[in-house]
Amino acid sequence: MIWRAKSRVVASVVTSWHTSSGARGSPDDLEITVQITLEVDKCIGSGSCEMMAPEVFEVGEDGLAELLDASPGSEMESKCRAAEESCPTQAIVVEV
Ligand code: SF4
Repeated sequence: MIWRAKSRVVASVVTSWHTSSGARGSPDDLEITVQITLEVDKCIGSGSCEMMAPEVFEVGEDGLAELLDASPGSEMESKCRAAEESCPTQAIVVEV
């Protein structure tokens, strides 16, 4: 008699993960954010970023850009990308 082992496929399904706040959540809770890096040393205060995404960037009284929100929601991605592309000194990096 020949014994053959039946192959078994074990699959795991991710049913929950951690949200941006660190809490464990379900797919409905998943919040995708945009990560913004601003290198202030490169800023020349042109103000383009504030015009493109005033919810995220503001030129302060010192004439340099400041981040109002370093990780805005995904709905801000296009505005943040426009700010990144408009910056004359490449001081802004946008990651999703
Ligand atoms: S667009 Fe660039 S150079 Fe102009 S204010 Fe913003 S960060 Fe500074």
